[in-house]
Amino acid sequence: MAVVTSSSSSMLLLRNFATVCKVSQFVRANSRIVFSIRESIRVLPGRSICSTRASHNEEAAAKAAAAVADTGAPTIFDKIIAKEIPSDIVYEDENVLAFRDINPQAPVHVLVIPKLRDGLTTLGKAEPRHVEVLGQLLHASKIVAEKEGILDGFRVVINNGAEACQSVYHLHLHVLGGRQLKWPPG
Ligand code: 5GP
Repeated sequence: MAVVTSSSSSMLLLRNFATVCKVSQFVRANSRIVFSIRESIRVLPGRSICSTRASHNEEAAAKAAAAVADTGAPTIFDKIIAKEIPSDIVYEDENVLAFRDINPQAPVHVLVIPKLRDGLTTLGKAEPRHVEVLGQLLHASKIVAEKEGILDGFRVVINNGAEACQSVYHLHLHVLGGRQLKWPPG
């Protein structure tokens, strides 16, 4: 009986040893796969994978938007200005409208736009005649930051063109704040 047990144990040990060998062979042969799995697990709790996926979507959307940018077609912002679709307005005057971004990237994320586009699909289209409204947009951004209580730390961003992931071709300033913002922005 004791002999049978001992031989069973030996068999078990041998089988375990064989399994360990096979696993280590697999790991050696597939070190790149294992590394990439390890990397995936490492980044799961963070934002890297999501950000990469999101940025691919943003890039695709930006390219699609750029393709029709110069047709002069109205944008979603025309509907917001005309109050045909609702928006959460933070500030408004004769020339400027500021409303919360539908997809906020920070606790405070407000878009500041000229009510009259006047060719300003992008900042890159700015002409000397736009100098006044450009100043008004910057000043309105400061008013928004003040109203939102982020005057001590905020960022104003203008995405210009597909390479900067612009998706709406009506000039707009993003006013961002309410959390520690990182630099470089990516
Ligand atoms: P861009 O990517 O062109 O710099 O910024 C356009 C912004 O407009 C995006 O951040 C997007 O979330 C925002 N946006 C797009 N459609 C709407 C909308 O219908 N309402 C609001 N409030 N924001 C929008």
